[in-house]
Amino acid sequence: MDLKIFDRMESEVRGYVRSFPVIFAKARGSELFDEAGRAYIDFFSGAGTLNYGHNNTVLRERAVDYLGSDGVVHGLDMATSAKKYFLQAMDRLILKPRNLEYTLQFTGPTGTNAVEAALKLARQVKGRQNVISFTRGFHGVSMGSLAATANQKFRRAAGVSLGNISFMPFDGYFGPDVNTMAYLERLLDDPGSGLDHPAAVIVETVQGEGGVNVASQRWLRELEQLCRRHDMLLIVDDIQVGCGRTGHFFSFETAGISPDIVTLSKSLSGFGLPMSLVLLKPELDVWQPGAHSGTFRGNNLAFVTAAQALETYWCDTALSESVAAKERLVRDWLENLAHSCRGAGLSVRGRGLIQGLVTPVGDDLANRIARRAFELGVVIETSGACDEVLKVLPALTIPREQLERGLEVIERSTTEVLAAAGKQPRVVHVAGGRS
Ligand SMILES: *Cc1c(COP(=O)(O)O)cnc(C)c1O
Repeated sequence: MDLKIFDRMESEVRGYVRSFPVIFAKARGSELFDEAGRAYIDFFSGAGTLNYGHNNTVLRERAVDYLGSDGVVHGLDMATSAKKYFLQAMDRLILKPRNLEYTLQFTGPTGTNAVEAALKLARQVKGRQNVISFTRGFHGVSMGSLAATANQKFRRAAGVSLGNISFMPFDGYFGPDVNTMAYLERLLDDPGSGLDHPAAVIVETVQGEGGVNVASQRWLRELEQLCRRHDMLLIVDDIQVGCGRTGHFFSFETAGISPDIVTLSKSLSGFGLPMSLVLLKPELDVWQPGAHSGTFRGNNLAFVTAAQALETYWCDTALSESVAAKERLVRDWLENLAHSCRGAGLSVRGRGLIQGLVTPVGDDLANRIARRAFELGVVIETSGACDEVLKVLPALTIPREQLERGLEVIERSTTEVLAAAGKQPRVVHVAGGRS
């Protein structure tokens, strides 16, 4: 496919076009189609933006109706019918049933906008500058959020010093035998540790970009207790693994914790439209009117699809149950694959429909598997500090048949790449997750 115009006109900064060097023309559900009409199964979902699939017909119908009826499209932060509809849906379907009391702050439409607002607010509330973030954390690439993002690839591009963040080891950073929470606790308890009293802690319950690292429920609960004990706000960045990715609307629900601030974006609009939200406990709302602004805080088309997504998928437990079933399928499949490639050092980790096939660092195996999978018709990305984790991130609504077909491609790509790399003396036929 001729990518010349992209090469000629676009900055070198472009990224995903290099991993998937075709021109995509259409998308439907869990399939993408290139200009030649070739279909690809989407195991990437716009990095978690398309939890309900591409061009979800229910949401699209709602959006088209709204546009056709002269609905307000841009509204700054004025009151509109679309925003009212979203607020009502959020209240009725998400907050009330979970007994959550949050005030909503609409920010600029990208995830990093929500993170910036959350960090600003936490620092204002506590009157302190320092914030704790974690190794492998990803929170966006604008200056405030970039300071909380761990990966040097992004940090190097900043051009200025990135400060007021202290990085602490995430759960499991030193392996299963080291309790990183005890380490953090010791530093906080010790006035001689050199750690400035933080205003807040910002954490992902599953690190999406950082390598599908899963925080245990216990670790999260201990983190919450530590925040309470040391007067720090707990910010959960649920931008990638919220909106149902783990099987619950919020990824922290199963841990039973109650974050002070939550950021949402990616799949919030449900349709791939930009929209972000900060949820804050009402008593933290120290904002002065207009003190934080943004031209695109009122993406009303996104409000409409977001509200419709809540009404369609969060009025009962069907989606959650289906995610749990698909999680088992993907998990079994990948674990069988890792097991049958004994000696290659593969392992599996994840929660819900974010599952990572972890490869040993050094041979670029995960990238090679992803490239081979793309040749075979599956769009999939890697994550982790060294791109060592193949990240399986299908739409939550993916039909079982497509999910299995995609997994077959992953299986084939993995065994082929391992064989080519001499990592696997004999290619065992994998029985997949078909138990
Ligand atoms: C993607 C992501 C962000 C940043 O969102 P953008 O829309 O790319 O600015 C922040 N936090 C997490 C956890 C993310 O996955």
